[in-house]
Amino acid sequence: MVRTHPLVVVGGGVIGLLTARELAMAGHEVRLFEQGTVGHEASWAAGGILSPLHPWRYPDAVTRLAQASMAAYPALCQGLAEATGIDPQWTPSGLMRVGLDEAPEAQQWAARFDWPLESRDLAEVCPGHGIDGAGLWMPAIAHVRSPRLLRALVAAVRALNAVVHEKATVEGFTRDRERLTGLVVNGETVAASRVIVCAGAWSRPLLEPYGLSLPVRPMRGQMLVIQAPPGFLSPMILKGARYLVPRRDGVVLVGSTMESVGFTKETTEAAREDLLKAAHDILPELARYPVTHQWAGLRPSSPEGVPYIGEHPEIRGLFMNVGHFRNGIVLAPASARLGADLALGRDPALDPAAYGLDRPSGTGAAGLC
Ligand SMILES: Cc1cc2nc3c(=O)[nH]c(=O)nc-3n(C[C@H](O)[C@H](O)[C@H](O)COP(=O)(O)OP(=O)(O)OC[C@H]3O[C@@H](n4cnc5c(N)ncnc54)[C@H](O)[C@@H]3O)c2cc1C
Repeated sequence: MVRTHPLVVVGGGVIGLLTARELAMAGHEVRLFEQGTVGHEASWAAGGILSPLHPWRYPDAVTRLAQASMAAYPALCQGLAEATGIDPQWTPSGLMRVGLDEAPEAQQWAARFDWPLESRDLAEVCPGHGIDGAGLWMPAIAHVRSPRLLRALVAAVRALNAVVHEKATVEGFTRDRERLTGLVVNGETVAASRVIVCAGAWSRPLLEPYGLSLPVRPMRGQMLVIQAPPGFLSPMILKGARYLVPRRDGVVLVGSTMESVGFTKETTEAAREDLLKAAHDILPELARYPVTHQWAGLRPSSPEGVPYIGEHPEIRGLFMNVGHFRNGIVLAPASARLGADLALGRDPALDPAAYGLDRPSGTGAAGLC
């Protein structure tokens, strides 16, 4: 068992919790600081689709993290369910993307990455609903229930003796020249040799005073849920920028908006109407069932959706794993593994160069949906 000074994780979303789990499993003492309640921000709000939407539109750096994570998810969820009694409900339902307009590039991309994708008709993939039309069927895509995943992760991290502090806001860091010595939490200094910042949409204001101006900004996403009966729908369906995610108990999630409105998390009537209209357009039968809930979360947007995973260029011991934008749930296991590899000085599971803090800032968030 390796024992060193406690390692500190900032932020209790899916990235921070999986990072804490990686570090604790490697035998380290771990403390996690969360400004609110763990697992209640973007990660809680997510639809839990375990693939980028339109995955062929993303840079290879995102695909590599996605594929490694997708391979890890079944065992991760089974292990969490056994260890904690909370089942994240990993469900390999497949995802139908309506329309063949991007078929040539999608098929080329799928062949390159050995990603199951074929042209099919909605009537075959989704029988009995009176809908049809050609699309791209990706049968290997699964989903999880994000709130359950997070509850299971918190329980698992605590069972590994990591200490989780809630209502603990990290206000800054202390250093001795180029070496990190600790962090300031609720006005008190806490000693630490290594810190991994996993603060999602809040990462930029936390790191800016230390000379790091990452292009990570909040991007609000709203979703709603329709209470359909158990067994109502099996596959996920994506049409344009809107999608349906069916759960095992029948409820259907409808997502999601993309709104650049700063740190405000209010839901709006306009988004409700827009999402409901999209849901009825995809599957008219849904008009028979009631909307039971609407919510919003703040995605940590980044150029092209590629996260920043690495060490501060001037402060040794200060690491970050931020900017997962629309794909933090699917990218989390491989991202956390890579971040932990770098912080622990292990051979990295993936080449970290594409996630470096000094990479060119890319073409921006536009076009990813
Ligand atoms: C509506 C919606 C739908 C989505 N659907 C999907 C999907 O289907 N699939 C998918 O892969 N992704 C999806 N996402 C994206 C995904 O939710 C995010 O990419 C992911 O949750 C980011 O995880 P995170 O841990 O970085 O951030 P968060 O979950 O936001 O966690 C960051 C945590 O850090 C804490 N924190 C911040 N600053 C401090 C501080 N100074 N001190 C202490 N704590 C701090 C915050 O309170 C927060 O709890 C969706 C997002 C939204 C909003």
